[in-house]
Amino acid sequence: MKKPQRVYEALEWASSFLEKNGREPRAADLLLKHHLGLSWTDFYIERREPLPDRVWEHFYRHVLRHAEGVPIQHLLGYEEFYGRRFSVSDKVLIPRPETEELVAGVLNWLKGREHATVADIGTGSGIIAITLALEHPSLQVTATDISNEALQIAEKNAGQLGASVSFYQGDLLEPLRHQAKKWDVIVSNPPYIPKTEWLALDPLVKEHEPERALIGEDEDGLLSYRAMARDLPTLLKEDGLAAFEIGEKQGNDVKELFQSALPEANISIRRDLNGKERMVFCENKKQ
Ligand code: GLN
Repeated sequence: MKKPQRVYEALEWASSFLEKNGREPRAADLLLKHHLGLSWTDFYIERREPLPDRVWEHFYRHVLRHAEGVPIQHLLGYEEFYGRRFSVSDKVLIPRPETEELVAGVLNWLKGREHATVADIGTGSGIIAITLALEHPSLQVTATDISNEALQIAEKNAGQLGASVSFYQGDLLEPLRHQAKKWDVIVSNPPYIPKTEWLALDPLVKEHEPERALIGEDEDGLLSYRAMARDLPTLLKEDGLAAFEIGEKQGNDVKELFQSALPEANISIRRDLNGKERMVFCENKKQ
């Protein structure tokens, strides 16, 4: 491929090349904006400008690799979440916009509640814990993950973004059990995709993101929720909140299993911006 003269020519080529290879054409904008080091506004204004050689070299290489199936976030090394840049690798789930809605729901519940204790279970790159800590600075935030490699990335993100979060290695709520206290908020985006759906996933996801962060054990994918429901009565405060991301067909089942664990709780299924059932919020009984 001969180097195009101008920014817009490179974009035109890359968008149609990516589309032909089954990728989102918009990925071309994200990649080129990154390599030019511009804001979105400047990126649109500077379309007719000449394309520097070095930018083209990096951009061209990334377009080819993305066409082959490498996620853009792995090429760039980051993804934006709640307006901040988080480092990611193939050891953690790439942040999804739906999870911003889970965080927004928790922040809304936390309004007016100062010095609350929050635990983010299966934190991955740390997006939920770190965003909560930064958006609501009086919180005491703890995060757990079974993967040490994920925790290293989460700790790096917390350091880069200046968030104070205590990280613990362990399976789901297990690290909390040793702390002999109850929590105001327990929040989690656990692995929930049923194994039977694994094959149907986009190769971009299947081949580049950790199976352990995506696939829920048990036939229905709900093992993580079952395990957390078992421990919630001893770990969640009487007037606390437990909030979970779920798969779009899991709302009723997840609601039912938390309702039997917390019979007094007010449990609601919430939809994401695409109208899909995506979250379950359990407000424990107020005293
Ligand atoms: N929403 C993610 C996906 O569909 C799954 C996240 C998860 O399993 N927690 O790829």
